[in-house]
Amino acid sequence: MNDILRLARPDILALEPYQHAAWAPSLERLHANEMPWRAAGDQTAAGLNRYPQPQPAELIRHLATLYSVAPQNVLAGRGSDEAIDLLVRAFCRAGHDSIVICPPTFGMYKVTARIQGAGVIEVPLIRDRGFALDTDGVLAACRAGVKIVFLCSPNNPTGALLDPDAIERVCTELDGRAIVAVDEAYVEFARAPSFTARLTRYSNLVVLRTLSKAYALAGARCGALIAHPEIVRLLSRVITPYALPTQTIEAVLALTNADHQAQAAERIAIVLQERDKLAAALARCPLISRVWPSDANFLLLDCVDADQVLRAATAAGLIIRDTRSQLGLACSLRISVGSPEQNDRLLRALSQPVQTDVGARV
Ligand code: PMP
Repeated sequence: MNDILRLARPDILALEPYQHAAWAPSLERLHANEMPWRAAGDQTAAGLNRYPQPQPAELIRHLATLYSVAPQNVLAGRGSDEAIDLLVRAFCRAGHDSIVICPPTFGMYKVTARIQGAGVIEVPLIRDRGFALDTDGVLAACRAGVKIVFLCSPNNPTGALLDPDAIERVCTELDGRAIVAVDEAYVEFARAPSFTARLTRYSNLVVLRTLSKAYALAGARCGALIAHPEIVRLLSRVITPYALPTQTIEAVLALTNADHQAQAAERIAIVLQERDKLAAALARCPLISRVWPSDANFLLLDCVDADQVLRAATAAGLIIRDTRSQLGLACSLRISVGSPEQNDRLLRALSQPVQTDVGARV
């Protein structure tokens, strides 16, 4: 057994997984209690009357090519959200084990751990150093029972990439002791190399990628967990057998081909241009005291009066994210970069005096 699997829950390692209906496309299916006819209007290629292939081979090969890894490194699920959930459920014993997170960061790590009954140890990012990783703090927090360290890079909601050398140090020092899950939901906007290139170096490294952001497929619900094949095999025994719906499989294969990849690259270029324009204009706005540098498709702002910024956005028909409940972000808001028209509308709204009775409180 790979050392890293020793970290998994013993009952999961011993689990006899559900035996789903065999996948034998050359035979006609009388083994899954399906209807032999499609529903009227079913436009899918495979037919919605049929269960989809678990971990569909063509989709896995496609994602592997997209992320420049081998198919055995890929587990496909319903967005990175499902990958986060699977990791926590497979590695953390309720009431015993913990995860480490670095707030302010993506909220699902903590929620997922709480649902599983796992502990959450917080090692805040260092605000004075541009929300940098507190590497020593993370390593010091990783005592026995810490199974997963979640590192989000670029980080949501702060926007910046974490220092790759710091991430590598965490992987090295936690080798055999904890999984390091690097969440790269926004990496396409950073134009930085993905940590997938370091997969062969660290057996405890797990990289989370998603089609929800750069590929404009948030509604399709598809993400990839990329890791050592033994981790992928373990998690494929835990994931629900028919996790990916037929429409998702077909949509992803149809909408992430070479043309779509070229289109995604063009759109990313526009988003980055718009992000820089928006950042410069917001920095001049008297309601805003600071615009944090971003490697993602959103901006974190510190506000002089966050309520007024929220009201102005609402009055312009736009909703932006209130992040003030998060650690270290007492006066901050997060704005996703929109279309040029939306960004201009937001900037116009912020340049106008706002009446206090306009719009709902957000
Ligand atoms: N990770 C991060 C950092 C995110 O911001 C999000 C969504 N906002 C996710 C993961 C989940 O993405 P999805 O489930 O759509 O892949």
